[in-house]
Amino acid sequence: MKEQERSPKMIHDVLVIGGGIAGEEASLNLAHMGFTVLLVEKDYSIGGKMIHLSKVFPTLDCSACISTPKMSETSRHPNIKIMTYSEAREIKKSKGLFEGKILKKPRYVDEDSCTGCQLCEEVCPVVVPDQYQYNLVGRKAVYIPFSVALPKLAALDIDSCIRCGACEKACPAGSIDFSQEPEEIPFQVKAIILATGYNLFDARKKADYHFGQFKNVIHAMQMERQLVPTRPYNNVLRPGDGRIPDNIAYVLCTGSRDKSVGNPICSQVCCMYSIKQAQLVMGALPMADVTIYYIDIRSFGKGFEEFYQQTASMGVEFVKGKIAQIEEKENGNLILHYEDIENGGKPVTAEHDMVVLAVGLTANSGITAEFINQEIALDPFDYIKPKDRIVNPALTSAEGVFAAGTATGPMDIPDTILSAGDASAEAASYIRRLE
Ligand SMILES: Cc1cc2nc3c(=O)[nH]c(=O)nc-3n(C[C@H](O)[C@H](O)[C@H](O)COP(=O)(O)OP(=O)(O)OC[C@H]3O[C@@H](n4cnc5c(N)ncnc54)[C@H](O)[C@@H]3O)c2cc1C
Repeated sequence: MKEQERSPKMIHDVLVIGGGIAGEEASLNLAHMGFTVLLVEKDYSIGGKMIHLSKVFPTLDCSACISTPKMSETSRHPNIKIMTYSEAREIKKSKGLFEGKILKKPRYVDEDSCTGCQLCEEVCPVVVPDQYQYNLVGRKAVYIPFSVALPKLAALDIDSCIRCGACEKACPAGSIDFSQEPEEIPFQVKAIILATGYNLFDARKKADYHFGQFKNVIHAMQMERQLVPTRPYNNVLRPGDGRIPDNIAYVLCTGSRDKSVGNPICSQVCCMYSIKQAQLVMGALPMADVTIYYIDIRSFGKGFEEFYQQTASMGVEFVKGKIAQIEEKENGNLILHYEDIENGGKPVTAEHDMVVLAVGLTANSGITAEFINQEIALDPFDYIKPKDRIVNPALTSAEGVFAAGTATGPMDIPDTILSAGDASAEAASYIRRLE
């Protein structure tokens, strides 16, 4: 059978790659203007990192309360077609139009009949680390990714599945389908927006901090998850022994402003998200001490400095010191060796019972390989390079391809939304000029 007969070509005005807050915002803007959008997300759900956050600085608004209406509006808009667990492939420009294929990966669950009832999940005997709780707890091999996933459909992780058949028997809709195969569907669009976001710095690269070896050293996304209502435990706990911590340290600039790990730039959000988390930890554990070890506090946005000062006045201790090394004691407590910058840089140690690494943001540059005859230039830090950072920040080196959000560099959510607004306006203007 010819490919054309198997899967008819999808024709839309714009392809948006990445369904985080940047991709959702850009898609909605374009859809509201009357353009048709194909939104492709490589994960099982749209939402990106924002849907996993607790609250947002400096207002402490609930992140999911802002994210879920946006996700829902995106999924219900008649001009937007969302394809999750899918990736764009072999994109090429020909006669002013972009063509390529969307690879739809099998979730081994029939999307039309699955009701998201989770009966499959209940009976599944396999437990593996849950990537949506940043490996703090386990999940089943067949599972709903997270409580507000969109679409709220089960997905079967074939690599972990033991083929016991329990989920097939339990599913009242007969939705488990082991026969699914990857599908390639051709598409054609007039413009593309890259909203592929960022990666978290891999804290294992900072070997002297022993992330992944010392159980009570966690990263900031793991703390975000401990602070949300759908948290993995019933309180903020030390993963090592399940004890409530009472003396927590934050290590700022873990993997940012650090040439030794290949990331010399400031991640722009770590100071503020750590200050935010410190306030939330004090709310969750009123008796706990919180210390933030920093190089500089960069509270550059509107209301940020006041938020920082408020946090200090609540009793969070700010210590200007660069952490050189973390050691573990037998009881799981951690000894931090640092340079006490305000006291002449002398070496000091301090003991804490839990350490949160304020990990930086790194570039997610993989998408450029999907373009066949268009070069998407990257900057020296591997983020998508704007054609002109000052006057055209959403334009890339390829005409008709725009970039939004943290795909272009570290930024917080309000700046991501502004950047997505810019990219969607540029894409709309470009398409109008084609007509
Ligand atoms: C611990 C922590 C706490 C934070 N707290 C705050 C806060 O309180 N306030 C604030 O303003 N900011 C905060 N931030 C920053 C915030 O997370 C970002 O500003 C925001 O999430 C950026 O959104 P984005 O859409 O650009 O990227 P992302 O959220 O990374 O979304 C990108 C999406 O693209 C998808 N994708 C990637 N590659 C492909 C591909 N090839 N094909 C298809 N899909 C793809 C990804 O799966 C993802 O869904 C925090 C960051 C961290 C690390």
